[in-house]
Amino acid sequence: MATQKMLKFVTVGKEMPEKRDASSRAQDFHEIYREFADRKAAEQASRCSQCGVPYCQSHCPLHNNIPDWLKLTAEGRLQEAYELSQATNTFPEICGRICPQDRLCEGNCVIEQSGHGTVTIGAVEKYITDTAWEEGWVKPIRPRAERPESVGIIGAGPGGLAAADLLRRQGVQVTVYDRYDRAGGLMTYGIPGFKLEKDVVERRNAQLADGGVNFVLNCNVGEDITFDAIRGQHDAVLIATGVYKARDIEAPGVGAKGIVKALDYLTASNRHGFGDEVPEYDSGELNASGKRVVVIGGGDTAMDCVRTAIRQGALSVKCLYRRDRANMPGSQREVANAEEEGVEFVWLSAPKGFTGGTEVEGVMVQKMRLGPADATGRQTPEVIEGADYVEPADLVIQALGFEPEDLPTLWGVPELKVTRWGTIKADFRTHETSLPGVYAAGDIVRGASLVVWAIRDGREAAEAILGYLAQTGAVAAE
Ligand SMILES: Cc1cc2nc3c(=O)[nH]c(=O)nc-3n(C[C@H](O)[C@H](O)[C@H](O)COP(=O)(O)OP(=O)(O)OC[C@H]3O[C@@H](n4cnc5c(N)ncnc54)[C@H](O)[C@@H]3O)c2cc1C
Ligand code: SF4
Repeated sequence: MATQKMLKFVTVGKEMPEKRDASSRAQDFHEIYREFADRKAAEQASRCSQCGVPYCQSHCPLHNNIPDWLKLTAEGRLQEAYELSQATNTFPEICGRICPQDRLCEGNCVIEQSGHGTVTIGAVEKYITDTAWEEGWVKPIRPRAERPESVGIIGAGPGGLAAADLLRRQGVQVTVYDRYDRAGGLMTYGIPGFKLEKDVVERRNAQLADGGVNFVLNCNVGEDITFDAIRGQHDAVLIATGVYKARDIEAPGVGAKGIVKALDYLTASNRHGFGDEVPEYDSGELNASGKRVVVIGGGDTAMDCVRTAIRQGALSVKCLYRRDRANMPGSQREVANAEEEGVEFVWLSAPKGFTGGTEVEGVMVQKMRLGPADATGRQTPEVIEGADYVEPADLVIQALGFEPEDLPTLWGVPELKVTRWGTIKADFRTHETSLPGVYAAGDIVRGASLVVWAIRDGREAAEAILGYLAQTGAVAAE
């Protein structure tokens, strides 16, 4: 197939070199590019040894049938590869781009473990789904029959959207409520565009809207509408609100201008990317351009902040983390990317306070060493007395993680049970909460996690909701 396409291009090029207009030249370029990319994907896919012990598959939260779609890709049967990959994953092109594959599928590839470098599973998954979109293989959502029952989903992140997709394909009436003005959750406003292009997310949002999912945006549940009102309007409800309460640093001077929260910083950058008016970005308050930036934290959010700051043209970017490289929670691949781009990591360093008056001028850093392991097995950082110093900074970004908001109080539903960490208590298989007909999925149950886990939860919750609707009569009567 590949050879035929190349021959066609060569023939066309020879026959009418100067008569061809810009669009046909672009078409030829596109074909050559596809040709090359097809070959690269097939080459990668053919490296899979079909080992028969697919650890990659068991370490993918969606249990994607990776060996089989790699085989199909290697054989040039891209449409079949796509069909197989989308059967278990609602947004394969998104996971292919942003899953921390080094901790999931690729990290457990047998070839990787034998020291020969992993099959780049994520890149192949992205490629086959991008191709499917280009070729029109991605099916629109067209339920065979409409059902009368409705489900209200609070939160338009990957958890909520994966559930919406599955329910809507079964003909259920689905309304998704979100307090933001765009759907996508952290895929839209948290994760930077250089990792996940926004048109990739918007294409999925549009597919859902086109398939009949009703989006009620700019609607903060608990403020603009009560939770009880949503429960009253729908036969079942899914809570997929994520975790947004930022952990703050408690240190003298933390209120100074120039010390900002990671999500505010990343949201401003993403909004700017969308072409929105963002006064805090324009004023420089949430913009790293020309500044000495210090990011505090060692997780993936911190990595996104440092890499965004580099792209905004920061003068220097340093990442302060209280443990060492080996004990960093963020993906090692992201750390390597950040280093390559010019970020300096200051290991074993924690903020003690901030210098400057109303505006930050520096971070007072205390040096740490790793002491004995705690109950979780991780070594506890201990302060090295007398080693403090000041790290100059014009912009300090706090990226210390997120906790759940207190939903039972905010929504006036004390019956909604939560864990001691404030996450919603839900059955781990059905995702049903302490309230009948109310389900929960994604970060609000797991705590800050991953897109791929939110997708899995959303899909499982949707299946359970279908069962619940059938049990309560309405679907069975259809
Ligand atoms: C900066 C950053 C980078 C990340 N990078 C990656 C990555 O590279 N790879 C990866 O796999 N994961 C990454 N994650 C984690 C991932 O984004 C989350 O695990 C995932 O988005 C969780 O999905 P969710 O559907 O549970 O919640 P979210 O995506 O957070 O969506 C929840 C939605 O609920 C809405 N909402 C909340 N409260 C209300 C309310 N009261 N009323 C109405 N709507 C409400 C919010 O506006 C939001 O749109 C990252 C997270 C952050 C913060
Ligand atoms: S969904 Fe994520 S973990 Fe699963 S195969 Fe794709 S990239 Fe790997």
